[in-house]
Amino acid sequence: MSARLLEGRAIAEAIRTKLKAQIGSVASSIVRPPKLVAVQIGEDASSAVYLRSQTKTAEALGIGYELRTLPETIAQPEADLLVEALNNDPTVDAVILQLPVPKQIDAKRLIGLIMPQKDAEGMHPSNIGRIVLGTWTIAPCTASACMALIETSGVDLYGKEAVVVGHSEIVGKPLAMMLLNAFATTTVCHIATGERGLLAEHVKRAEVLVSAVGKPGLIKGAWVKEGAVVIDVGINKVGDRIVGDVEFDEAARRASCITPVPGGVGPVTVTMLMKNVVEAWKEKR
Ligand code: NAP
Repeated sequence: MSARLLEGRAIAEAIRTKLKAQIGSVASSIVRPPKLVAVQIGEDASSAVYLRSQTKTAEALGIGYELRTLPETIAQPEADLLVEALNNDPTVDAVILQLPVPKQIDAKRLIGLIMPQKDAEGMHPSNIGRIVLGTWTIAPCTASACMALIETSGVDLYGKEAVVVGHSEIVGKPLAMMLLNAFATTTVCHIATGERGLLAEHVKRAEVLVSAVGKPGLIKGAWVKEGAVVIDVGINKVGDRIVGDVEFDEAARRASCITPVPGGVGPVTVTMLMKNVVEAWKEKR
């Protein structure tokens, strides 16, 4: 392998050190530390790992963390009321809705109800809009994590060919806007690109490649341009292994930098959630 590994844990640790310093420089006996409230509806087993990682990261940073678990059978109006109460609570800086939610709950509506200034996940339409305007402080965590990893690679995005595979609202679309904002020439590929058989052609051009699809082996190692920076967001279970979307070994022989899966984007994502919390807290000072 010739590529440098972009190790998420080390990168997350460096970001956390900066966040700790920011909290330390503001927090005193008269200014309380930041506080995040996580709202969980029912107890979906798949969110347990993410919840544990949120608790641990918040604790390490001195961020207050409270989990509010609502009954599985709760109706939309009651869930709305809780979000409104958290919006009005001056001791709460940021709110996150844990997904998935039970089928009677409209997650998009709830996320839209969280006031933009307390939107820990950066998914409120107003925060998404600020990415288009280039004025964001709070942004979707995984997209921000990809940008932090790209920055660590040392690549200058100005005028570079960036290709994002996947156009989801939480990763691909906001990330494409961030790359555009950094003056990368940005291409977004999606299901129709694949259906027309054009995915390889676009990927082969990428000097910066991000895949956020969730299909193991979708990106062939041989497609990766020599010297490219490769960010693999995908998380796929194959037998008892977790792998990304990119054929790692062959891609690593060609890339200059590549994220491992697991241990690349994941650890940075939860840290970017805490960065959003700190931004929300700072805006209230
Ligand atoms: P998603 O909402 O399912 O989006 C997947 C995207 O891939 C869609 O835009 C889809 O297009 C596109 N796509 C599907 N098949 C394709 C193909 N053959 N060629 C090109 N594009 C294709 O998923 P997501 O939430 O963005 O997550 C993507 C992956 O990242 C998943 O594996 C998820 O587990 C992982 N993830 C990791 C982290 C982390 O912190 N490491 C965070 C979030 C997500 P259409 O919508 O047009 O079908």
